[in-house]
Amino acid sequence: MTGQIAGVRGVAPLLPTDAVRWRAVEDGLRTLMDAYGFREIRLPILERTELYARAVGEVTDIVEKEMYTFTDRSGDSLSLRPEGTAGCVRAGIEGGLFHNQAQRLWYQGPMFRHERPQKGRYRQFHQWGVEAYGMAGPAIEAEVIALGARVLAQLGVKARLLVNSLGTRECRERYREALVHYLAAHRDRLDDDSLRRLERNPLRVLDSKNPDMAALLAEAPTIADYWSAESRSHFVALQDYLTALGVAFEVAPRLVRGLDYYTHTVFEWTPHETLAQATVIAGGRYDGLVSELGGAPTSAVGFAIGMERLVALVTRLPAPPVLDVFIMTNVSCQLRALVLAEGLRDAGLTVETHLAGASAKSQMKRARDCGARVIVEAQDEARVAIVQAGAAKGEGIVTWAEAVARISQIVGAKAKIDGE
Ligand code: ATP
Ligand code: MG
Repeated sequence: MTGQIAGVRGVAPLLPTDAVRWRAVEDGLRTLMDAYGFREIRLPILERTELYARAVGEVTDIVEKEMYTFTDRSGDSLSLRPEGTAGCVRAGIEGGLFHNQAQRLWYQGPMFRHERPQKGRYRQFHQWGVEAYGMAGPAIEAEVIALGARVLAQLGVKARLLVNSLGTRECRERYREALVHYLAAHRDRLDDDSLRRLERNPLRVLDSKNPDMAALLAEAPTIADYWSAESRSHFVALQDYLTALGVAFEVAPRLVRGLDYYTHTVFEWTPHETLAQATVIAGGRYDGLVSELGGAPTSAVGFAIGMERLVALVTRLPAPPVLDVFIMTNVSCQLRALVLAEGLRDAGLTVETHLAGASAKSQMKRARDCGARVIVEAQDEARVAIVQAGAAKGEGIVTWAEAVARISQIVGAKAKIDGE
């Protein structure tokens, strides 16, 4: 059989021009992780399905209809991870990271959800998550939020920060009753998803993306009326801290994360246009989850960045890495070109060689497209020409033996002009 094989819907490769942008964003994020004392954890992509059923919750979009679940050859039900927090907690418990220790962790990588693909919504997408464990007060929430704000500021992304508090479990229980009472009184205006959630997870109804329900939800009771004194003071302190740190925010009284283990603070950043698939970073405190998954009770707060959405919003990209040298060569000089390239790499330079046997014209086009600092062209057995060195044109012809030293010198001078 021959012919082209289609990719999986909603699952796309990242082509080199996009990968360059992603890498610049990721490099910036890594530096920020270091700046806030977060350490990388690399998590599996496959987990037991029950992890998500328990951690994310049975009555959620993710578990009800979005997971890639299959039975493996040993008969175990496994799922491709739809998010990172559950796996992070599981790995932290198993690795003993939470024993009376504060931990700041980050991870990144692909997540999988069977959703309807559209702009900003894919079936394989990427998250960059940060999670902080063992810190109960509003201070760590403020610090994590400041980190999120810095991520966006550094990349020139404009988004509104929305914050709310779900209070303690008890506050939420009382709120839940009031909410169910309100929604049940307007049962005729609820869509099917919401009717189902009304029984089992009414807070998630507030999360509905259905525009027909917006007016109804805008009138729903808010949790603020059900906060305990402790919940209120926690949330007030967080707001004071954010103000002191110069982080702008808006209180969004109906912002929820409808999972049982969320407590106190929830937050998200959404760009100014209010699209359904707009949220770029979402997070909150989830003090209940570690014990829910069999660990000792442990405070936890974190967020996840939707990388596709973030990269799409970036207006200020850190400069991509520069190619130092591009080597053009005819077929008979290819071995000499390879030897020269290796010598230049030994000297610490980045080098691309053109080995397709193409015309000088097309090689030159490729060299220019790469933005190489220096372009050289093999002449014959004896010599190589430095055909273009940016500002200083026509540096002349050198022997192969002289080439590494001469080219290194020119690249060094150019790098200095570029301000490196
Ligand atoms: P949404 O409300 O957009 O469905 P969500 O509440 O399901 O998002 P979370 O589980 O909180 O999303 O995931 C955190 C972030 O991951 C989101 O804010 C978004 O930026 C990103 N994200 C979630 N699902 C997708 C997807 N299918 N494609 C691309 N990005 C996604
Ligand atoms: Mg979703």
